[in-house]
Amino acid sequence: MNEELQIRRINDKIDIKSLTLEEVKELLAGWGEKSFRAGQIYDWIHKKLVRSFDEMSNLSVALREKLARECILVTLSQERLQESKLDGTKKALFALPDRNMVESVWMKYEHGNSVCISSQVGCAMGCRFCASTIDGKVRDLTPSEMLDQIYALTLMNGERVSNVVVMGTGEPLDNYDNILRFIRLLTDENGLNISQRNLTVSTCGIVPNIRRLADEKLQITLALSLHAATDEKRREIMPIANKYSIRELMDACAYYHEQTGRRITFEYSLIAGVNDRGEDAKNLAHLAGPLNSHINLIPVNPVRERSFKQPDHSAVLAFKNKLEKYHINVTIRRELGRDIDGACGQLRRSYKLENET
Ligand code: SAH
Repeated sequence: MNEELQIRRINDKIDIKSLTLEEVKELLAGWGEKSFRAGQIYDWIHKKLVRSFDEMSNLSVALREKLARECILVTLSQERLQESKLDGTKKALFALPDRNMVESVWMKYEHGNSVCISSQVGCAMGCRFCASTIDGKVRDLTPSEMLDQIYALTLMNGERVSNVVVMGTGEPLDNYDNILRFIRLLTDENGLNISQRNLTVSTCGIVPNIRRLADEKLQITLALSLHAATDEKRREIMPIANKYSIRELMDACAYYHEQTGRRITFEYSLIAGVNDRGEDAKNLAHLAGPLNSHINLIPVNPVRERSFKQPDHSAVLAFKNKLEKYHINVTIRRELGRDIDGACGQLRRSYKLENET
């Protein structure tokens, strides 16, 4: 058995939902089973989205039992659900097999359903405005745990997902191998077959891994959480800025664009009195212009434990207008689910605090 199969284990069982079709074939060959069985199993897991080996009704009972003995089929269980009365956004808190919790969001847009998933339990990046990072990182998510956030929400809603954004808790490029495998499985034509162009991975800017990702030559969208246009300001709100300068980041983004032909999206959370002045817009335009980047403005979502505030609406519009004067392509992110715990990590956090007291 190859090394990957050895590694992809949870509690000594093979994490079969994290394996590619080729690897399932290899596994089954090792058991002396016919190769088409692998295709059937992969189809049950990634297309029919079954929750147990028992449901794989075209396999013999003996094979199902063997699967249950040797493998784990990672499925997340819904612990909580918040539903917006305003726009149908649903935020789910899911329990992982080890009872750690992650949150995922289901959003309805005109062009289809979009799911926002978490990539880690907690986060080590320490961005000052973000609720996900307050208690640090607990662990990385496996590919199966990322996939099943999408599968569970698909089953819950009975509708197909067309877009996936990795913008929940965690830093995906701090969990590189698992994210890459997740991308391959999610966009596999034998699975949910989501187009790479409909998948966005958001990073706080881990430069070497942006370059690595560029070399994979995928067609996914890379979103860079910039949030400030000078190193000095960025360091105040994002510790990662002490490690990589904006110059290095822009070079890595240019490289990503060169290798993939894809335009980068810059995310910019507007924080009153911190990064919302005219001067900030001008500096931001100078960074985004040469890369032909799209800018997504997000009025900062106030987090209970943090003191950051949103600029008022007129200041947000003025910032957008200023960018447009520099011919920058800019949108203000539509705020969905305003009436539920919107900000990343808040649902998990409130659950955690309740259960600690
Ligand atoms: N670690 C990745 C992805 C997770 S965060 C990243 O940094 O991109 C997803 C996006 O939400 C990031 O742009 C992040 O900076 C932003 N974000 C986090 N907390 C926020 C808040 N309270 N208000 C607005 N945006 C926030």
